[in-house]
Amino acid sequence: MAPQSQPTRLAGIWSFRHWLAPLGRRLFGTLVRVETTEPLVALTFDDGPHPVYTSQILELCNVAQARATFFVIGKHAAAHRDIVTRIRAEGHAIGNHTFTHIRMPQTRRRRRWQELWQTQQVLLPYRVHLFRPPYGGQSYGSRFDALLFGYEVVGWTFHIEDWVYQPAEQLATRLVEQIRPGSIVLLHDRLVNPRDPNAADRSNLVSALAMVLPALSHTYRFVTVPELLRTGKPVRVPWFRPAL
Ligand SMILES: [Zn+2]
Repeated sequence: MAPQSQPTRLAGIWSFRHWLAPLGRRLFGTLVRVETTEPLVALTFDDGPHPVYTSQILELCNVAQARATFFVIGKHAAAHRDIVTRIRAEGHAIGNHTFTHIRMPQTRRRRRWQELWQTQQVLLPYRVHLFRPPYGGQSYGSRFDALLFGYEVVGWTFHIEDWVYQPAEQLATRLVEQIRPGSIVLLHDRLVNPRDPNAADRSNLVSALAMVLPALSHTYRFVTVPELLRTGKPVRVPWFRPAL
């Protein structure tokens, strides 16, 4: 019996590890980084667009020939359609960050769908395939919603706590110290309901980027999340946590 059952069991293990598990991660996982030997990094900016700071960041990206990904809030995108158009025209990617920055796990499904759908409508004619849950909050139910909408859910590799007021030099140092090939970096071109009111002014982040982007762009190529996905092996993890 042993010689017969052994291959069956091995085949079972093989199919789970090599087929089912990756499929599960593809369908229900959250992208946190990409394995790549190339010096590619994806900067991501949440909560915008903002009429002043987003434009300043776009300028800096142009100078450094950097491309980024903007996870916009539908309400803000509706108020600043010109900036959305500019983001796309300049080669950056756009993702959905809900219409009013809701806490997904604490919100009823009907409202969650409304928030995703409304934001998609504002972003037309652009087809958006990326979603980042506000506060990084995700439940099994809200991850399933993202799957139904056909989104890649994007988390992050690291952040520099840019929602807390810090001097530009400190923000710059934290960015430089943590950056690695394949990283997805969480940043904010705007802040919704900041706990630290001083942090609503994004000038320090803009200054930090102005300090480090030109030099970093000699070592790294800053690309959009879709481009990063095309050039490396995506690392998706189970990411289920409350929106605090
Ligand atoms: Zn946010």
